[in-house]
Amino acid sequence: MIRLYDTMERRKKEFTPADPKRITMYVCGPTVYGRAHIGNARPAVVFDTLARLIRHHYGADSLVYARNVTDVDDKIIAAAEAEGVGYRVITERYYHNYMEDMGALNVLPPDFEPRATAFVTRMVDMIQRLIDTGNAYVVEGHVLFSVTSDPGYGALSRRDREQMVAGARVEVAPYKRDAADFVLWKPAGQSAQHVALSWESPWGKGRPGWHIECSAMIEAFADSRGQGETIDIHGGGLDLIFPHHENEIAQSRCAHGGVPLARHWVHNGFVDMGAEKMSKSLDNVVGVDALLAAGHKGETLRLALLSGHYRSPLPWTEGLVAQAKATLDGLYRTVGDAKAGEPDNGVLDALADDLNTPLALSRLGGDRIRAELADEGILLEDGPEGTSWRRA
Ligand SMILES: [Zn+2]
Repeated sequence: MIRLYDTMERRKKEFTPADPKRITMYVCGPTVYGRAHIGNARPAVVFDTLARLIRHHYGADSLVYARNVTDVDDKIIAAAEAEGVGYRVITERYYHNYMEDMGALNVLPPDFEPRATAFVTRMVDMIQRLIDTGNAYVVEGHVLFSVTSDPGYGALSRRDREQMVAGARVEVAPYKRDAADFVLWKPAGQSAQHVALSWESPWGKGRPGWHIECSAMIEAFADSRGQGETIDIHGGGLDLIFPHHENEIAQSRCAHGGVPLARHWVHNGFVDMGAEKMSKSLDNVVGVDALLAAGHKGETLRLALLSGHYRSPLPWTEGLVAQAKATLDGLYRTVGDAKAGEPDNGVLDALADDLNTPLALSRLGGDRIRAELADEGILLEDGPEGTSWRRA
């Protein structure tokens, strides 16, 4: 049995897939306009580890793991215009860089990598359904989701109205019926790259909002797996809870007659630099490529990312990387000669308990060290005062 903390219910609960032979997990992936930093790598490594755990428990073919690529975004357009190239030059370059960097961290490619630009027809279709059900309205070339039409809005983030309006950093837009309403479709801008990244729609030439992209891709994903409209796990970083995941939930539930979007909501904490979250906008990022170029091995960086519990903030320091390297060297010394095969039950139990990687790592080292010492006639014993040893 795997237990996972569910953000919606704010408690650890048993992971219960609808169909253990066809488990579905969707994680919000990168927006491809720049190199990934180590904070971007955390969800990739965490959900890769979770995917491996699920496959271990339920079978190699039990899971389909989807991670989308956001290839429509103002930042992509800005990057293309700054370089004087087409937007696809930007999205292709940074998609490949991302896959290369994550590959160096031993992150397996997901099974399904939907790109937003390939699902615009489904997004338009979903937006039309939301208009038809009275959950969205058209105004001045925009389509907006009406949050007051959804009584369940705010359930994931548990924010009150004022916090939601403040947190959404809502643009002042006189055409909005409610300050918290968010964009499903927006008109195309004037520049060449804006025009290139736009599509015809019943509401004029434009492009989808970020939130509807994921709702439509998840719909296509669940559909393709014959899983109705509810996926088993939806994951991402903590910063996506509001507004992104709150908005995904509202769109999907309203478009699906009240059927929930996901059974489990799993969110990883930030990598931070001292008191600040690592983010491009704060200009305090440490690139994965820069760390690799500095001579750190991908497996050391992966271990550093897994050395803290995935829900806790992870302060990124030189000391953390050095500690991870020492741990890894120690593990190679103690488990290096052990025959590859089934991991210890203690290690698996720790992972199955809300992906407790720090506990799993200590058990991985600890049990092997015990076995090694026992061969030399030294017994380690756990007592109320801690661990002691005696000669056998
Ligand atoms: Zn998303």
